[in-house]
Amino acid sequence: MRPFHRRSLLQWGVAAAATGGAAPAVAATERKASTSQAQQYVGVLVDTTLCIGCRKCEEACNRRNHLPRTPESFADREVLRSFRRPSEHAFTVVNQFPGSPSPDQAGLPMTYVKAQCMHCLIPSCVSACIVGALTKWADGAVVYNPTICLGCRYCMIACPFEIPAYEYHTALTPRVRKCEFCTDREKGTGADPACAAACPTEALVFGKRADLLAIAHARLAARPDRYVPRVYGEHEVGGTGWLYLLGRPVTEVGLLELPETAPALRTEAIQHGIFKYGIIPIALYGTLAGMMWYNHRKQGDEEEEGASDEKPAPEGGAR
Ligand code: SF4
Ligand code: SF4
Repeated sequence: MRPFHRRSLLQWGVAAAATGGAAPAVAATERKASTSQAQQYVGVLVDTTLCIGCRKCEEACNRRNHLPRTPESFADREVLRSFRRPSEHAFTVVNQFPGSPSPDQAGLPMTYVKAQCMHCLIPSCVSACIVGALTKWADGAVVYNPTICLGCRYCMIACPFEIPAYEYHTALTPRVRKCEFCTDREKGTGADPACAAACPTEALVFGKRADLLAIAHARLAARPDRYVPRVYGEHEVGGTGWLYLLGRPVTEVGLLELPETAPALRTEAIQHGIFKYGIIPIALYGTLAGMMWYNHRKQGDEEEEGASDEKPAPEGGAR
């Protein structure tokens, strides 16, 4: 969740180029459907003013997902010195940013911010996957099925938060890896995040997204001195399952300023537009091609006729 770079430009550039810079209209029905479904979705509220950077969430994630053991202990806070991204070996990471988490916590030197898949309400990764290896479950978790994945990695390009990682070093069966909300795909059990259960300060609260939004707005109203007046993830890219309360501007703590429209809606609107209205340019091109063929043929016939008129009469024939 660092500032835009080339991959970010690609995600938005595809839509802009295809539409000549004009944002296509987003179907109102799709927005409404996602809003009503979103009432059923779960999420996690991250209150960055409560996070102490203990990395218990990272450790719990590592164990629950049977990820490789790290050379250093999770109690080792030296790793916080470098900015990290979620990877195929760590579905969540905590980063530190110099400065207090909020204006009323001036004595604290660092702000800690956890990063992972945001479980978007309208996930671009799901939209980009041409074989349906990524799906959004009824509880809101975005889950991956490695048995049908082609390895095209379109999901990695599509994700506005730059989350999915790939097992490049696994020669035979590389997978896309990311947080799956601790679902169990084989048992069909839904979201049950180990990180939230492990957090000792309740910086992570798991629950229904609608309830978490109510909690977040209540905290904003109660402590205007502490929080930046917004819930990050409430509207960004159409809304996300993970929501953040911050005491500092998002760009100071490694989060991206993103538009409210989901990239998936933009690209799907383009695809639907091509299928729906593509018939008009195809018919036009077809007509033009037919006219060109007819004119070309007519011209050829006329030239042939002209050539035969000019042919010299055979010797001994009438002049
Ligand atoms: S954050 Fe990225 S990987 Fe996670 S659901 Fe959203 S688009 Fe998919
Ligand atoms: S377990 Fe909680 S307090 Fe510890 S680093 Fe993770 S989010 Fe922060």
